[in-house]
Amino acid sequence: MTEVNLDPEDWESFQDLGTKMLVEMMTHLKTIRDKPVWQPIPDSVRSTYREPLNEEPQHLSDVYQEFRDNILPYALGNIHPRFWGWVIGTGTPVGVLAEMLKAGMNPNLGGGDHSANYIEMQVVEWMKEIFGFPRDASGILTTGGSMANLVGLTVARNKKTGHDVRNQGIYTTRPPVVYGSVETHSSVQKAIELLGIGKEFYHTIPVNDRFEIDLQSLTQTIETDKEAGLRPICIVGNAGTVNTGAFDNLPELAQIARQENAWFHVDGAFGAFACLSSSHKDLVHGINQADSLAFDLHKWMYMPYDIGCILVRSEADHYKTFTLTPDYLAHETRGIPSGKKWLSDYDFLLSRGFRGLKAWMSLKTHGLKQYKLLIQQNIDQAQYLTDKVKSNLNLRLIAPTSLNTVCFQFVPHDKGLPIEEVNQMNREIVLQLHEKGIAAPSYASLNGLYAIRVCITNHRSIRPDLDLFIQSVIEIGQNLTSV
Ligand SMILES: *Cc1c(COP(=O)(O)O)cnc(C)c1O
Repeated sequence: MTEVNLDPEDWESFQDLGTKMLVEMMTHLKTIRDKPVWQPIPDSVRSTYREPLNEEPQHLSDVYQEFRDNILPYALGNIHPRFWGWVIGTGTPVGVLAEMLKAGMNPNLGGGDHSANYIEMQVVEWMKEIFGFPRDASGILTTGGSMANLVGLTVARNKKTGHDVRNQGIYTTRPPVVYGSVETHSSVQKAIELLGIGKEFYHTIPVNDRFEIDLQSLTQTIETDKEAGLRPICIVGNAGTVNTGAFDNLPELAQIARQENAWFHVDGAFGAFACLSSSHKDLVHGINQADSLAFDLHKWMYMPYDIGCILVRSEADHYKTFTLTPDYLAHETRGIPSGKKWLSDYDFLLSRGFRGLKAWMSLKTHGLKQYKLLIQQNIDQAQYLTDKVKSNLNLRLIAPTSLNTVCFQFVPHDKGLPIEEVNQMNREIVLQLHEKGIAAPSYASLNGLYAIRVCITNHRSIRPDLDLFIQSVIEIGQNLTSV
């Protein structure tokens, strides 16, 4: 009787090929600056993405060759030094190795007494320390900021809706309301919809000219809602909005939330890490007053996808929201099902990958000091770019640069073009920069203006990259205006 498995038949040649993959990937990372940031996928390559599933095995070396030819060159581009689109991190070589080691160990962090669970808890402890959360606060690693927002808002809903939501559901004669500025990330709205609160009860508040929540408008809306018989349960504050990197007044929001007996959730996806900079750490003042804080490690901490984190001030609230222990998951005091803490008691997920390893390895290897330098470096680069924009007659800054995000337009100063035409031209500039593989900014719509948006969460960027980018924006812009 032959029994089969998925291990290599010839371990030695398998290891050789694996070593080759590792060496080639490191070479790819080492030489990434020489390559286009992005390139369109040719039709001939695109067709290889839609092949029938094979019944017979293929040689790993052939499959790898396909990866090299058809997959690797047509990547998103975010590991490139001139990628600054949306808010996307770069990853690191240390992260690559950590991901390999993690896949080799392949533990499931749902529960039990094994090292991986303790490493996730260790990373959460470090995060609490970074953000000044109390020692007895709770937290878990997540797939990213969206999931972190969902977990935080779930605890908020269960705690503040005024009845036992887990038992009775969301239905109530006094509907719960959540507040956040109009600049709040879409994942917050999605979470509110998913939690059964409903978009109608997500009251978005206007922002001032620095894109920060208008506090007066917030308190007025809360008053009106209470008079209408609604129940304010949660205020969401931004530590770095997605469009412009703006920070809401967190201490004031904390105070208002306390007065209203509402939960205070902060979305600090990338901006929370401004606390590591010497020049901008005051922006996050008050972040440690949050009842829950969501942030990402795959953005401004440069770790490979995917990894985010949610911190919850009250461990009891966090636990009560998610714990559920059927017989087949009974926790023991001995053997595999023992362990100090089962992470599945703090999350909707049962099976969990070992995300903590890349965070643990990265933080240990580079040290917090290196992250502090890099975050400051990105902020300084954003200021450098801002100064370049301000000093050029044909470029116009269209939002204040509060952190690492620069929003501007190319506007030929002597042409008097209508807004519509300028917007269209800047959109064309962004897309040409992508198609030519020069740089990858993204875009934002700010008060009706189309902004070229540069968000620097990239440890590989250097100032000459920004010089080349600006020079290309101007060249493309001038070509567009001369035709
Ligand atoms: C990116 C981002 C999110 C969502 O995080 P993901 O990791 O992409 O799920 C939420 N809020 C803000 C401010 C963000 O920048």
